[in-house]
Amino acid sequence: MFSPLKLIQPTTVQDASQALAEFGDKAKLYAGGAELLLLLRNRLIDAEVLIDVKQIDRLRRMDSNNGTLRVGACVTHQELAKNAAIRERAPAFAYAESQVANIRVRNQGTLGGNLAFNDPHSDPGTVLLVHNASVTIGNAKGERRLPLDEFFVDMYATALEAGELLLEVEIPSLPAGMTSSYLRLHRYQRPTLGVAVAARITNGIMEEVRLAVGCIGPKAQRLTELEKKCAGTPLGDAKKILAEQKSYLRGLLQPVDDLLGGAEYKLYMTGVMLGDALEQVAHNNGALRSH
Ligand SMILES: Cc1cc2nc3c(=O)[nH]c(=O)nc-3n(C[C@H](O)[C@H](O)[C@H](O)COP(=O)(O)OP(=O)(O)OC[C@H]3O[C@@H](n4cnc5c(N)ncnc54)[C@H](O)[C@@H]3O)c2cc1C
Repeated sequence: MFSPLKLIQPTTVQDASQALAEFGDKAKLYAGGAELLLLLRNRLIDAEVLIDVKQIDRLRRMDSNNGTLRVGACVTHQELAKNAAIRERAPAFAYAESQVANIRVRNQGTLGGNLAFNDPHSDPGTVLLVHNASVTIGNAKGERRLPLDEFFVDMYATALEAGELLLEVEIPSLPAGMTSSYLRLHRYQRPTLGVAVAARITNGIMEEVRLAVGCIGPKAQRLTELEKKCAGTPLGDAKKILAEQKSYLRGLLQPVDDLLGGAEYKLYMTGVMLGDALEQVAHNNGALRSH
């Protein structure tokens, strides 16, 4: 049973931010409610006021400018999975969105709610990292923009400050010739592991490689040192490098034992699935013959 809640439905960012300032800790931003209502029902958080941000027009918009897709925070997972521009320009992201939970959660949950909650067992953030995505954050006084990897601070923690809303996510297209892949491992609805790879491969050599891993530790992360090691190598060598990086991955990703799997298992599967994703990218690039 919920305690009675006051619902506020602002139509501007300024009004939403002012409501946050007015009600302080008693208020929570509410988008799809997929996470929030569960937390309230299980009394893991407390609120007296819900500020529904879905009536803010700007947060519902999606457009593109000079190759960068701009997605409002309240666009749902299902809208993203089905959107033609996303499927064409960021197909691995569209695929990741199509894998979130189930159709009920995808219709209800929003990209902004997913990123702002920053549950470690999430899909979209990992693949957005290889796109070098950034976010726009705002309050009644103004806006700021920061790279997604700086927005993710820790498990359930982001760079959002009191009174701020996540407004938009900017997703640049991948550079010409680069293709991407997202693979996830799951036993239940929430993923145990998600890996994203983007690479440009010329004459069988990895010219530029971007790698990201999510779910196994506190937050999704780019593997920049490994990217450098893989650049300039043939596919077979890159796969070998990826399979041999357990201690680097352990230090960076801080995997934990939990109900979704043991830390050692997750680390092993990270190496394997990064290699598989790289192979899929090579295949998409035309660098491998089709099976
Ligand atoms: C059964 C189940 C299975 C799931 N499986 C997956 C999965 O496989 N992969 C995956 O990635 N995710 C999964 N999820 C998580 C789901 O994707 C997220 O719950 C959803 O995207 C959250 O979005 P929402 O709009 O419902 O957020 P809400 O529940 O409304 O809000 C979540 C949090 O974000 C804050 N918030 C919301 N919008 C904003 C904003 N614009 N600015 C600042 N803060 C904001 C809220 O205050 C709250 O703290 C699952 C969830 C459930 C319940």
